[in-house]
Amino acid sequence: MEATLLQPFLEKKHDESRQGEAFAPFQEDPIPYKKHFYIESYGCQMNFADSEIVASILKEAGFGATRNIEIADLILLNTCSIREKAEQTVRKRLTEFKKLKKAKPSTLVGVLGCMAARLKSRFLEEEKLVDLVVGPDAYRTLPQLISEADGGQRSVNVLLSREETYADIAPVRLNSNGISGFVSIMRGCNNMCSFCVVPFTRGRERSRAPQSIYDECQDLFREGFKEVTLLGQNVDSYHWMPDLSIEEKTGITKDHYNRQPVNFAQLLEIVALISPELRVRFSTSHPKDITDAVLHTIARHENICKYIHLPLQSGSTRVLQLMNRSYTREWYMAKVERIRELIPECGISSDIIAGFCTETEEEHQDTLSMMSLAKFDLSYMFFYSERPGTLAQRRYEDDIPLAVKKRRLQEIVDLQGRLSHESNKRDLGKSFKVLIEGNSKKSDQQWMGRTSQNKVIVFPKNEQQLQPGDYAWVQVKECTQATLIGSIL
Ligand code: SF4
Repeated sequence: MEATLLQPFLEKKHDESRQGEAFAPFQEDPIPYKKHFYIESYGCQMNFADSEIVASILKEAGFGATRNIEIADLILLNTCSIREKAEQTVRKRLTEFKKLKKAKPSTLVGVLGCMAARLKSRFLEEEKLVDLVVGPDAYRTLPQLISEADGGQRSVNVLLSREETYADIAPVRLNSNGISGFVSIMRGCNNMCSFCVVPFTRGRERSRAPQSIYDECQDLFREGFKEVTLLGQNVDSYHWMPDLSIEEKTGITKDHYNRQPVNFAQLLEIVALISPELRVRFSTSHPKDITDAVLHTIARHENICKYIHLPLQSGSTRVLQLMNRSYTREWYMAKVERIRELIPECGISSDIIAGFCTETEEEHQDTLSMMSLAKFDLSYMFFYSERPGTLAQRRYEDDIPLAVKKRRLQEIVDLQGRLSHESNKRDLGKSFKVLIEGNSKKSDQQWMGRTSQNKVIVFPKNEQQLQPGDYAWVQVKECTQATLIGSIL
């Protein structure tokens, strides 16, 4: 999953500087569990969704979730490995558990996610207080590994799977606002972008059975959620094929939506038809795979949000080839124009990497000019961080000096700031259907919500008895670079 977006949930995107988010159940669990786990998640939304799967598996195994790390019997870090800084954040956090373990030696510490999958048993050698190292496809084995560790045997399971999608596990919603829920539709990635660790830490692509996705989205809607975000590293390559070999094992193709092959456009429609009241978002798209069928489906359904996160990474075709992104500058621009042709009001955001191996000053200018051409509403921007074991690390020298990387990144960030502000200014006077998510951070006299284009908008409460989860039509009166400011119509 390219780095990814959407204030506020975008903030979750690979924000390695961000403190891990401690979880507590959406509603405090009434059941008095004998044992408790405490979990912090780092990195992308996929990791946060995985933590909800982990919570479900642990609940089944008799663990209750707690926000209070002092009382936890099991402390888990669900880690990110997308950049060096993300791993440094985790190592620093682990040092803070020394005191806790000293005070309560029976406490187990486990690391999950991409850093666990990348380091494997080395993690146990390098971090003495870690008892469990569990990769993204091995969470079902957690209860067994915990009992082994309880017995004093520190354990590792980072096996990758070609089938595992956790489709039959109902996530325990953690830290949710009860309005927006995340539903993973596939795992792994078959693209081998040369800078990326994901194919090595999350394995080959596999698509989850559409019936289980439909059921989970419908359950969320019945629970009062008004928005679902379908998650995948590259949602455009979602492809369900009824597989008779699985049929014998699981009877999975008996279910209505599992009987036919289903691609991403069809899956979007299946979920959109649950209810016009349910908003549908998705992340992340890939420029080489996004189809007209997906764009027509978005245009056909009012409740599929008019917003696409389409990572560019670089504006130079030569650098894109080194990155093994499988598209050119011209191809990318043609996709942006096609999106705007079929969905004129569509919001587009992106990811940009500054200072990739051998990038010239001219090619950096290509990235800046491409951003201006595409008029991104928002982007996630980083400088290149060499990752061990990736194609780029094995083939290319990380030859751009750090000072140059930082200067180029700053130019990209400054440009994006102007583009975001100009994009918000283009919305002045327009009215949007907004899903209310809660109070604005600044005042409880104001609502905060998002437009279909995924822009954050704040507006004063009025006499209408609105609640989080309600829709309201709001006219934009003012704006900042990051926020629209309006009033209810
Ligand atoms: S390999 Fe490429 S497409 Fe796959 S997760 Fe990494 S950056 Fe995204």
